[in-house]
Amino acid sequence: MPPATHPPTPALTRHQSLVLGALAREDAPASAYALLSHLQGEGLRAPQQVYRALDKLIEYGLVHRVETMNAFVACAHPHAHAQGLVVFAICDQCGHVDEFSDSAIERRLQGWSKSAGFQMKESTVELHGDCARCQAAGSGEAPAVAAMPAAPAAKPARRARKAPGAGPA
Ligand SMILES: [Zn+2]
Ligand SMILES: [Zn+2]
Repeated sequence: MPPATHPPTPALTRHQSLVLGALAREDAPASAYALLSHLQGEGLRAPQQVYRALDKLIEYGLVHRVETMNAFVACAHPHAHAQGLVVFAICDQCGHVDEFSDSAIERRLQGWSKSAGFQMKESTVELHGDCARCQAAGSGEAPAVAAMPAAPAAKPARRARKAPGAGPA
């Protein structure tokens, strides 16, 4: 399905392209100051320049803010958010973030909001824990498939890593 949740992205300014490019190269969420330090050679000098670019990129749906880390990630699937609810599973060991949407959770929150007379404008769920890879590194075992708390309707943004067969590697 081709959900058109965001209007077509306007042409990015030079600063916006630089910030998005720097963010896309990061493995983990990056703070505005980390981005600034990567981009100083490109002519960005003030944090405000980075924040301004980030604000627009967030507005265009290309970047998300990870509130609990005060950091930013490039969207794993730009323009593919069928629903507003985005879930981040954040590894506290390596900082890796998996992003997915979950319409079941969103419906639940919308139901509550309606019954409480609350006007929900934005919803983000952030899970903290250990990613499958870090668990495997810690225990020496293959990652458990059950590590992904995916509801039936959830579509992982990135391939769900399955344990290849069974048995100790
Ligand atoms: Zn996204
Ligand atoms: Zn990890």
